[in-house]
Amino acid sequence: MSDEPTEVPRTPQPVMGMYDAVMWQSISNGALELQHCACCDTTLYPPAPVCPHCLSDGLQWRAVSGRGTVLSWVVYHKTYLDAYPAPYNVIAVRLDEGAVLISNLEAPLPEESWIGRKVSMIYSTMPDGLVLPRFVLSERNPVS
Ligand SMILES: [Zn+2]
Repeated sequence: MSDEPTEVPRTPQPVMGMYDAVMWQSISNGALELQHCACCDTTLYPPAPVCPHCLSDGLQWRAVSGRGTVLSWVVYHKTYLDAYPAPYNVIAVRLDEGAVLISNLEAPLPEESWIGRKVSMIYSTMPDGLVLPRFVLSERNPVS
């Protein structure tokens, strides 16, 4: 065994656009906030200067419930990034608030189709310290 420290794979870092800082700070705090349009009741993702549906700039940051439904999923069997060794999954989740997030589902994983499964958000601290919103299966799923 070597006494040298094992190098921790670096998670791809968030790309900070003009409107992303509040969202990433809320993720670091373990309570994701997204913009909500007071005019048309839309929850925005990604963050934007105005609502893409009604063009209102009356946007407020609100914590989301963390509850959602899997829209789509894929399991990659090839490692593209050291931070995500194969096999790993990517899911598209529609939050109950309406916004769609791309994330990962943590174990236990469904044995059959993942589409339509209810999921709950958790906050995972990656080996390099970055906190990411991820999901686990919800207890709201019907027993099969
Ligand atoms: Zn709107």
